[in-house]
Amino acid sequence: MSSANLVDINNLQLKLYIGGKFVEAPLRLPVVDPATEEVIVHAPAASESHINQAVEAARAVFPYWSTLDGASRAKHLDAIAEAVKRLKPQLAELESRDSGKPLAEAMWDMDDVSGTFTYYAGLARELDGKQYEAVTDLPPGGDFTASLRYEAVGVVAAIVPWNYPLLMATWKLAPALAAGCSIVLKPSEVTPLTALQFALIVEEVGLPAGVINILTGGPETGAILSNHQDVDKITFTGSVPTGVKIMTAAAKGIKNVTLELGGKSPAIVFDSCDLARTVEWVMFGCFWTNGQICSATSRLLVQETIYDKFMAKLVDETNKIQVGNPLAEGVKMGPIVNKVQFDKVMGFLERARVEGINFAAGGDRPTDCPRGYYVRPTVLTGMRPTAEVWSTEIFGPVLSVMAFSTEDEAIRMANDTEYGLAGAVFSGVEAQLKRVTEQLRCGCVWRNCSQPCFSQLPWGGWKRSGIGRDLGREGFKAYLETKQIVTHVTENALGWYNVAKL
Ligand code: NAD
Repeated sequence: MSSANLVDINNLQLKLYIGGKFVEAPLRLPVVDPATEEVIVHAPAASESHINQAVEAARAVFPYWSTLDGASRAKHLDAIAEAVKRLKPQLAELESRDSGKPLAEAMWDMDDVSGTFTYYAGLARELDGKQYEAVTDLPPGGDFTASLRYEAVGVVAAIVPWNYPLLMATWKLAPALAAGCSIVLKPSEVTPLTALQFALIVEEVGLPAGVINILTGGPETGAILSNHQDVDKITFTGSVPTGVKIMTAAAKGIKNVTLELGGKSPAIVFDSCDLARTVEWVMFGCFWTNGQICSATSRLLVQETIYDKFMAKLVDETNKIQVGNPLAEGVKMGPIVNKVQFDKVMGFLERARVEGINFAAGGDRPTDCPRGYYVRPTVLTGMRPTAEVWSTEIFGPVLSVMAFSTEDEAIRMANDTEYGLAGAVFSGVEAQLKRVTEQLRCGCVWRNCSQPCFSQLPWGGWKRSGIGRDLGREGFKAYLETKQIVTHVTENALGWYNVAKL
């Protein structure tokens, strides 16, 4: 039974948003509810001409927006945060229907969206106090003083995926706005609905026309946008293959680029951990957001001394996870986002079966969900490190498990991956937590937990998990250029050419 019915699907904002105007697009793409497999609406797909108009609008407003003081920009970010708070139930319900994530998770996402705008409003204000910051460690006795200014990078193309549709957009929009950039946002064609409604918020808070432009559409729209010569920076979250294309486009134009890509993150469980708490975090670390998390700790390493006991409890609890309609009360796992992704996950599971890997839990569709792209939470055991399900990002609710004996072996196995987004370690021994933290080669380490994420902390991966950081102060600097200002301050002329006095 559905507990949510705030959104009138027949009354959604379904136009592109360009230069402060709502614009029709003749080409439209179907948006499917993954819980029912039915097309709920058709969203616009931006053409090359729309993309040119959006970049032009962003370029036109840039001189004004980028030279406002940070405090003035912050007022707009605060107003957006307030509007998102007010509209949280509607936005969360829409996100849940569009992406399949449980409603309670979509509610958290909306809290994060408003929290992130508030956080970057603070950094925009703080920026005013940092302009012309003196650099005081030039060599002593010199003829020069120096200071620094931080100025907006320019027009930003933000291209985002479908797993946290409005939140991933916010990770780009909020710091870019705070820094003074103007933006063209391209949400995923799979989940475009909350970004389209966000245009109404942009309009309501009176953001100057062109500061945020919202273009829905598929890979082609993204490709044209990322190759546009008048875009100064591309900020992208998505898969590695698309990241390669984006970086290639950026290389051609020597554009500033931030890439947040995939992962296959490890969770290491030592025998000194608190078993019950660890089981819960391990489940959350892999099955939250229906398992479609870039940072999912989907490779589980369990110390052999507690392997049987730990796995028995993990499998038992995993089998109790309530799978079903994401809007229904108590559901902790909804459907996979669409048929393409569902078939991809099922393909991994079929090949694992053929390889002889053991299915300790799940591996199929729940019997009471005949429609919708549902997969039961799955736990796989009895594999080698060469197994596809051990080494490849699945982006579904699939946890692959191996045992280890020593700490060194666990660290070696954890780091044996082309990715480096995150890692979790569970231990009751402080010194062990510290040793493992220092040896994991990744951008986030969670100790006795998995997946907590804060706007205040830099987010990003090492190795093939990406370049640069979203969030935190580093995620703000990513939208700022540094300008050094040097002033000649003595009475003396340079004296190099002996230019006579006039
Ligand atoms: P994707 O790469 O298929 O698509 C992401 C976005 O890129 C979409 O908007 C898509 O339309 C666009 N796109 C596709 N082809 C393009 C092209 N040639 N040029 C420009 N844009 C193009 O990824 P997805 O399937 O939407 O998302 C899943 C992936 O995202 C996973 O690999 C996951 O790990 C990753 N992800 C990473 C993070 C992170 O913070 N590191 C967060 C969420 C998701």
